Amino acid sequence: MTRTAGPPSQIHDLVLRGGRVLDPETGHDALADVGVTGGTITAVSARPLVGRRTVDVRGLVVAPGFIDMHSHSHDVAGHRLQAMDGVTTALDLEAGLSPVDEGYRQAAAEGRPLNYGFSASWCQARMAAVGGLPHGGGMHVALGLLGNPAWQGEATGTQVDEMLELLRLDLAAGALGIGVVVGYAPRVRPEEYLAVSRLAAESGRPTYTHARDLVEQFPDVAIDGAQEIARAAAETGVHAHFCHITSTSRLHSDKVMQLMDDTRAEGGRISTEAYPYGAGMTAIGAAFLAPELLAATGLTPDGIVYAATGERMANAERLREVRAKDPAGLAIAHFLNEADPFEQGLIDRALLHPSTVVGSDAMPLTWTNGEPDPLAWPLPPTAVTHPRTAGTFAKVLRRYVRELDALTLLEAVSRSSFGPARILQDSVPAMRRKGRVQVGCDADLIVFDAETVTDRATYEHSTRPSLGFAHVLVGGVPVVQDGALCLDALPGRPVRA
Ligand SMILES: [Zn+2]
Repeated sequence: MTRTAGPPSQIHDLVLRGGRVLDPETGHDALADVGVTGGTITAVSARPLVGRRTVDVRGLVVAPGFIDMHSHSHDVAGHRLQAMDGVTTALDLEAGLSPVDEGYRQAAAEGRPLNYGFSASWCQARMAAVGGLPHGGGMHVALGLLGNPAWQGEATGTQVDEMLELLRLDLAAGALGIGVVVGYAPRVRPEEYLAVSRLAAESGRPTYTHARDLVEQFPDVAIDGAQEIARAAAETGVHAHFCHITSTSRLHSDKVMQLMDDTRAEGGRISTEAYPYGAGMTAIGAAFLAPELLAATGLTPDGIVYAATGERMANAERLREVRAKDPAGLAIAHFLNEADPFEQGLIDRALLHPSTVVGSDAMPLTWTNGEPDPLAWPLPPTAVTHPRTAGTFAKVLRRYVRELDALTLLEAVSRSSFGPARILQDSVPAMRRKGRVQVGCDADLIVFDAETVTDRATYEHSTRPSLGFAHVLVGGVPVVQDGALCLDALPGRPVRA
């Protein structure tokens, strides 16, 4: 790593003075000053730097801002919660958007606290080409249609071609790969998944998959969900990113991780991602939450909590009612029991595996009074979500570094910043300048107290922001300063392939 840039007398816009500077790529872990000018890191030096503004960060850690590959936060409120959790780049790669341009335009027009980017959405392209539903409309429209059987059926060859054409346009517009939530449409033919993977491989970009069911869960599934990802990587050469691996693999997570290891050993390009919680969250109308399918995966109706009211589904009948009335309504689904040592162990092992990066699966907020107010801060108690939205990254630091001593601080930071950058950078050159504290890299920087940083969001109090991130800079602009959110900061910029 270059320790200094320019003449020693150079005056930087901002100097972070005397922090413990972590750079996962080089392994740098030492006290240094960091200079920032015009959105770029202009020096990292063991000797004191001169700045127009100097912030004393002695006793604190300076690290690359976290890059969340799995964030469905598509508004200012969600970005703010994630900023308080150390995130500087929030990418929606699993679901994505189609047309992807629509999402980039909306984010640019409204302004975003964090950098943002999207994959091409297989689901939205399929809704249009196969389901005959309107194309686009953003995340909320897609969530509203997620449980609609119209888009989930088998497709004709012509329909698949039309869908691939929509995805091709999105890739040409800079989409960061293709998001494939095939688990939401289990009757899709395996050939279609391969065709989508081939298209991604041709464009040199990854697929990001929410896997379909495993054969242990549903013996008559068209193809085992984990085998499908492994096969696509092997046959098409695509970089296949396996989203929230414990959320779909559940009790079979160890076996699925082993299959991914075997596939990698044979040359397949596979990365995995996990969040540190046992519950998932999705639209209550999702195909896999149908009452008649729950038993196969060990879920019961009372493990499903409707976010809008906090109601636990008393029985299959009640679940059926709510699915019919509000299919787009979000619900928490307790897939794995965090209080059970075996089930918590599955989450821990998947997250601690060397190939796994941290991804939050941050969800759009549910406004229990029906009136979204995304510019309110602090968030009112009428805003609820899954605690992973607010607390994933701080929880990894608290639990796996401080409490379990299972990761070094540098390792935990790496899985949350450099790791995601490395997965993306072959196809997204801009990511070579992120996830690093090096001269010439983007000044997406976080400053936190390693001894106290902690998540505070729980299933009961899901939007409590994390604590301990003193400063969060996005392109050199403070989004969090002295632990407080900067209300008018909207420095987020698009990340495109
Ligand atoms: Zn998912």
